[in-house]
Amino acid sequence: MPNPAPTLGIYVSIPFCRAKCSYCNFASGVFGSERMAAYVEMLTADIRAISEHAATWGAKLPRIADSLYFGGGTPSLLSPEQMRQIMHALQEIVSFTSSAEITLECAPGQLSEDLLQAMPGMGFNRVSLGVQSFVDQEAAAVGRLHTREITLKEIQRLRAAGIADINVDLIAGLPHQTRESWNVSLTEAIATGVPHLSVYMLDVDEDSRLGREMIAGGTRYGVGMVPNEQTIADMYTEACERFVAAGIAHYEISNFARAGQESRHNLKYWTRQPYLGFGLDAHSFLPTTDGHAIRAGMTDDLAVYLDLSPRRNELETVTPVSAIDAMEEAWFLGLRLTDGVSLRSMQRQFGEAATHMFQSTVLECEEQGLLERANETVRLTPRGRLFSNDVFARFLGVLPEQETAGISLQQQGVGA
Ligand code: SF4
Repeated sequence: MPNPAPTLGIYVSIPFCRAKCSYCNFASGVFGSERMAAYVEMLTADIRAISEHAATWGAKLPRIADSLYFGGGTPSLLSPEQMRQIMHALQEIVSFTSSAEITLECAPGQLSEDLLQAMPGMGFNRVSLGVQSFVDQEAAAVGRLHTREITLKEIQRLRAAGIADINVDLIAGLPHQTRESWNVSLTEAIATGVPHLSVYMLDVDEDSRLGREMIAGGTRYGVGMVPNEQTIADMYTEACERFVAAGIAHYEISNFARAGQESRHNLKYWTRQPYLGFGLDAHSFLPTTDGHAIRAGMTDDLAVYLDLSPRRNELETVTPVSAIDAMEEAWFLGLRLTDGVSLRSMQRQFGEAATHMFQSTVLECEEQGLLERANETVRLTPRGRLFSNDVFARFLGVLPEQETAGISLQQQGVGA
């Protein structure tokens, strides 16, 4: 029986925020309404031109989408009219399934009543809230504009509007955070009863204000109050244990969900399903007509995007995914999931080479307690999750080109 045609995930980047958080290195910023309006115009033109661009990449564009994610930035800052404009453009290029997961990222307290009321009519059924901490001092220290009270009210408002599928993001390692205060945030997060939680360990980036202050040896933004690496690792481990004990399963390194509430959109990234990104710094992954795949990444420079769009081919970096790349990706993306990587499935997709060539890498990680094997499945250990970037790096570049040159295109597992 032929494989069913793959469904698409769509990501829309809205790079506008009300204030810039001190730890943030995303392509986002604080801009006026004129810039936002111009961006929406460019974005919709970009969406409408996608068939043309996909053709120049030799990509196959699935026409049925079952997930849509508005991220950023703070996309809840858009007006209902702007959101409708984008939705209409998307509906011109794809059909959404009746059960499509449609998510809006919001900062607590930054979702207007008008947009909230309009959301269900536009198909939104999920919200991801950037809470980061339920402790007001910690949130304020990194420039978040909400308090615990605002967050709890926001969750109530969402539920009252019919949106119960809510994710709460938390960050372990914020300035002023202690093991004790972290536990306050964990307790509050569990008590909200939301079906999905994400926990990220703060890795201060040198391109963030916090990072630059650290490098300069300054004291602003609570620089001296950032917990050390071991404390952050302990906080993460504590979150894993407490969420699982509360019945919220740990299904991916940073993600936890009650039964059946995993993020369909994010699962596409980790299982190498096709997705299309629109807007600043958005990324796409599509099968190609010759059985391979491409990855594309949009510029992260807003001025460049606004000046040149919709000549997307000049703004975007397009990279073919080789047979080797595909295997490496399947390993390090698959290992992000608690289910791990099934050796049989790897062999089905890519042939014997997919397991044979990585055998020594797997063995080495097993010996170091980073990976474990059970029932022909390889997965990260709790220690491996803490050092996951190091583990993933070992799966990159381990294969000489000639040894996989004969792998069939269909084996690349992009749902082609
Ligand atoms: S709201 Fe999110 S995207 Fe905006 S500055 Fe803060 S962390 Fe960055």
